[in-house]
Amino acid sequence: MRVALSALDNGRYSVAAGCVGIIQACIDISVKYARTRHQFGRPIGSFQLVQEMIADMVVDYEAARYLVYRAGHLKNKGVRNTRETSIAKLFASEAAIRAANNAIQIHGGYGYSRDVPAERYWRDARVAAIYEGTTQIQKLIIGRETLGINAIVPS
Ligand SMILES: Cc1cc2nc3c(=O)[nH]c(=O)nc-3n(C[C@H](O)[C@H](O)[C@H](O)COP(=O)(O)OP(=O)(O)OC[C@H]3O[C@@H](n4cnc5c(N)ncnc54)[C@H](O)[C@@H]3O)c2cc1C
Repeated sequence: MRVALSALDNGRYSVAAGCVGIIQACIDISVKYARTRHQFGRPIGSFQLVQEMIADMVVDYEAARYLVYRAGHLKNKGVRNTRETSIAKLFASEAAIRAANNAIQIHGGYGYSRDVPAERYWRDARVAAIYEGTTQIQKLIIGRETLGINAIVPS
């Protein structure tokens, strides 16, 4: 059982790390597009509300990355990391959904098409909040690890 449960921690960790990559990819395509797409005679990246979306992505990226590093550091040391891995998986998957959503938004109507990978990033991010334990299950694990009360299977 211990081996089986640690396998879940490893799977969740991989999903969280993958989500950091999705956020980075969302930033890369959004920055490129915001610099080159012009509206009202200027690049859309010069509009403050577009910069806000990019800033939100960057903050989410840095936070998700360091949560993944922390969980990975514990894994390398062979220390139990269920709580930290669930926190990383929960945050990184929800952050990746936010980032992909913003990447689609920054690309406007183009972002909804398959000509740019933003919609695929959104689908890839969306499933990350479902498999290897849904967002709700991660919250219940974090609650259990904090309270010492298991609410996943109500008694
Ligand atoms: C693309 C894809 C690939 C997958 N690959 C694999 C794989 O390789 N191996 C594998 O084993 N599985 C795999 N899965 C299955 C995946 O792990 C499950 O879909 C996931 O665990 C959710 O289970 P479920 O779909 O039965 O939803 P359910 O368990 O029916 O959940 C439905 C909803 O109820 C909520 N819920 C359920 N229980 C609770 C609770 N106790 N408290 C609060 N809310 C709750 C969930 O959070 C969710 O919102 C894959 C799924 C997808 C979509």
